[in-house]
Amino acid sequence: MDIFRGQNLIEFSDRFKTDLDCKEYLAQAKWKDGYQCNRCGHGAAQQRRDFSRICNICGHTESAPAGTLFHRVRFGVRKAFFICFEMATTTKSLSASYMGVRFGITEKTARLFMHKVREAMRSSGNHPMDGTVHIDEFVVGGREKGKIGRSYDSKKKKAVCAVQLTEGGKERRMYSMKIDNFSGKEIKKMFDAHIDGTAKMTTDEWRGYWPLAKKYDIEQIPTNGGLNFKALHTMIHQIKSWIRTTYSWVSDFHVERYFDAFCYRLNRSQSKGTIFNNLIVRMVKADKIYQKEIICS
Ligand SMILES: [Zn+2]
Repeated sequence: MDIFRGQNLIEFSDRFKTDLDCKEYLAQAKWKDGYQCNRCGHGAAQQRRDFSRICNICGHTESAPAGTLFHRVRFGVRKAFFICFEMATTTKSLSASYMGVRFGITEKTARLFMHKVREAMRSSGNHPMDGTVHIDEFVVGGREKGKIGRSYDSKKKKAVCAVQLTEGGKERRMYSMKIDNFSGKEIKKMFDAHIDGTAKMTTDEWRGYWPLAKKYDIEQIPTNGGLNFKALHTMIHQIKSWIRTTYSWVSDFHVERYFDAFCYRLNRSQSKGTIFNNLIVRMVKADKIYQKEIICS
């Protein structure tokens, strides 16, 4: 498959001039390991001009976007590709109203599709962090005083953040998750989802970690005004301001998606060249999501 590489918008728009160009790309991603009819299971088909496939046995037609997160995108696959490209390659936070204006769709339509993209950006959980990992909790939303750490304001959303460090003490990878409270039981969700059992972890002296220290290799040290957790606190500041500048109000339901999108981009900052293709492959693999599942009350 001739994958698109790079972050150059001109090259991107030259490659994807029409909806058909995009459908060809989707078809390549979707059937790269071979075709199988999703009605009768037969393995051979004819390709139509719009890159859909017609099963040789039962005649079932399947379009390239069917069953992917591009399914029934009414504003066209090309615009959807551009939105994916923007979201994958930008370092800034993008709002639905901005994207609506940029691509000539309503804010609501943009928001819905952007949530699908964020859905595809969610971690598979297949690559837990190992090595040196720093962990801390924080809050987002409500009134902010630029403070890091635990807060008990009920309007704020509680979260935990873990950063794997390079040997030089810089961030290498990170994950962030919403939690209901700062108990060991809630914080353990992060350990279960994203941290390898061999990781050497460091936290502040919060007692929530005490029950976890029996099972995991956790060292608890004073924060020393944040100096002992520099990379971690920088990441927490970034994720907070990223959410704050774009989303004046983030629902409990959606906050996790914003975390997923932030971490996805950060964790691929060394592989920006292939990030668009990676996102498309994820969009193709994901089950189609309907509006009711995205917009939760
Ligand atoms: Zn068939």
